[in-house]
Order: sequence, then structure tokens, then C-alpha cells
Amino acid sequence: MSPSYRIASIPGDGIGPEVVSATIQVVEKLAKTLGTFNIDFTHIPWGTQYYKEHGKYVSDDCLETLRKFDAGLFGATISLCGASSWPSAAPLQLYANVRPVRTFPGTKCPLNTATEGIDWMLVRENSEGEYSGQGGRSHIDQEWEAATEVAMFTRVGIKRIMRFAFETAQSRPKKHLIVVTKSNSMRNGMVLWDKVAAEVSKDFPDVKWEKMLVDAMTVRMVAKPQSIDTIVGTNLHMDILSDLAAGLAGSIGVAPSSNLDPTRKNPSIFEPVHGSAFDITGKGVANPVATFWSAAEMLIWIGEKDAAAKLMHCVETVCAAGVLTPDLGGTANTQGVVDAVCDEIEKFI
Ligand code: ATP
Ligand code: MG
Repeated sequence: MSPSYRIASIPGDGIGPEVVSATIQVVEKLAKTLGTFNIDFTHIPWGTQYYKEHGKYVSDDCLETLRKFDAGLFGATISLCGASSWPSAAPLQLYANVRPVRTFPGTKCPLNTATEGIDWMLVRENSEGEYSGQGGRSHIDQEWEAATEVAMFTRVGIKRIMRFAFETAQSRPKKHLIVVTKSNSMRNGMVLWDKVAAEVSKDFPDVKWEKMLVDAMTVRMVAKPQSIDTIVGTNLHMDILSDLAAGLAGSIGVAPSSNLDPTRKNPSIFEPVHGSAFDITGKGVANPVATFWSAAEMLIWIGEKDAAAKLMHCVETVCAAGVLTPDLGGTANTQGVVDAVCDEIEKFI
């Protein structure tokens, strides 16, 4: 019997519902055409509409609800929701935020040096560090008003993301990992990162690895993009570097991301890097490719690697043929891209 997967679809706000609905159409078409697995999407209505009806953005039992699924496909939320309103990475222990960055057909890499395009894998620590929410304020509104923002790092937290990053690097042809820190200036947490990286590296003798300071890393990404394969860093550092990477790859409209629990005790959540983009909401022109790619990453994670490769092949063929939304300089609308990908699936499979 073919395997069946249960996916929580959480469209959210802005263009979230548009790109998630586009993606469900494409993935359902893929599953039906292949006939090798079943996939079932359950709509979960969290976001602004839910807030209007219930006075909160998500239900109180949101974590229990999510745990019933094999994975989640997420659209976008308005930034105003704030991390605390949403089931964040911490309670689900989705400690690895993974962002593949690749020059996509139809997008132009703005770097002259990257004639062969970019192909990187970014791994961001997603559960502690600079976004631990610890700190405080004092002497509010006085001349000597002060604030502390505490970055919290634990050996357990660093070790698990480091191990995941080395495994990721090991699975890629170049087997190369750059560990980004700022240990020349931040002499506690960043020194612990360096120490744990050196310890974990001993278990991966076939992976070439090096340390790099985050400031120097930004220059290397622009000046020597071909010297980079897999990068791992803290929550803050990789937040910044991954936006830079998306910009260098050509467009935020194609950038995917995965929030993973590598222990697989909790469902992992897949989402486009972009946000709710209210300026184009309702116009039918949102680029669905970032969400298609996120769904392909989801298929790989749940065990349908071959289906994911076929999906990406069809998406890339359609983009290379020039069926592009306006953010990539094309004239297609969202549904036009969906239809073209569904036609390509029909032809290819
Ligand atoms: P949020 O506050 O949720 O982060 P945002 O309005 O800042 O949302 P972003 O997603 O960060 O929006 O994107 C910035 C801009 O990039 C948008 O205003 C939009 O014009 C463009 N953009 C983002 N995603 C897409 C997409 N999928 N297709 C087309 N354009 C997009
Ligand atoms: Mg934004």
C-alpha cells in the first residue's frame, strides 16, 4: 500500500493563503500523477482572521494540534503577531532552520563573479542564542536609560546544531563547512561555539571545515561565492547572512526554508522565506515558487525524495521557459505558474 502523509496547512496572512493554495494544487497534482503516495492537507485557520474571531492568533492547544501531523506547510504571518503569539521553534524544538540558496532559472545573480551561479546550504541555529528573549530595561525615559539583551548559548544547543551542520555538509558533494562566529570580540558564547565545533569535527574527518568571523563572511559571500558550500551560525548571524544570500541568489520570491526537528519527535515546518507582502496581496501576482520549493524540501523530509526531485524539475523547466511572475520580470500571474507546473507534471511523469 502506498504511504499516506498528513500535512497541516497554515496559510496565515497576506499572500500566505495565495502561495499555500497554489502549492497544494501543485503537490496534489504531483501525488495523483505519480500514484505512489497519498498526501492530505488539513487547513488550520491561524492568523489575523482567527484573531478577529477569537481574540488570539492561534488556538490554545496549537502545539497539540500540530503534533498530530507529519509536517506543516506555512504561508506567512504579519510581523505584528510577534514570536510569542505563534508556536515558535522553541517548544517544538525545531532547532535547525535550513535554507538552500541556489541561483534559479529566471533569476539573475547580481554578482559578476558568480558566473556559474550560487549553490549554498545555510544552517541557522533556531532555538537559542541572541533571540533568547532574556534581558531587561532600567531607568526608562531617563538620560541613563539602559537595556541588556542576553545571548544564551548552551553546549547542548551548539552541539546539536553543529552535528546537524556537519551531517548536512557531509551529504553534499563538496563536503565543506564554514562555522561562522565572532569569537574575536564576543569572548564567551562565541568561544564556546568554536570549542564545540572543533570537538564535533572529530566525528567527521571527511568534512573540510573552517572558522570565519561573521564580518569577513559577508565579504566572502560577495567576493568569492564559489568558495562557499555549507555555512552554520547563530540565530542572529544567520538571520542576517540568509537575507544577504537570498538577495545574492536573485529574489526573495524563490527562497525556501525548513524549520526542522532533526530528532523527528515533532513535525517540522516548511515555509517561504518571504513574509506577508501586503503590497501585492489580493492581486494574484505573488510568486509561488518559494513555497513550491519549501514543499519539495518537505517531501524530502517525509521520505519522498524522488517526488521532490520531479517537482523541482518541473518548476525549474517552467521558470526556464519564461513563465515568471512580475517580481522576476515576467507577466504570469500566480495561477498561470500553477497551471504551467501542473501541465509540466502531466507531460514529464
Ligand atoms: P512581513 O512583514 O510579513 O515580513 P513584508 O511586507 O515585509 O512582510 P516581505 O515578504 O518581507 O514582505 O517582502 C518584501 C517585499 O518583497 C514585498 O513587499 C513584496 O513586494 C516582495 N515579495 C515578497 N514575497 C514575494 C513573492 N512571493 N512574490 C512577489 N513579490 C514578493
Ligand atoms: Mg519583511
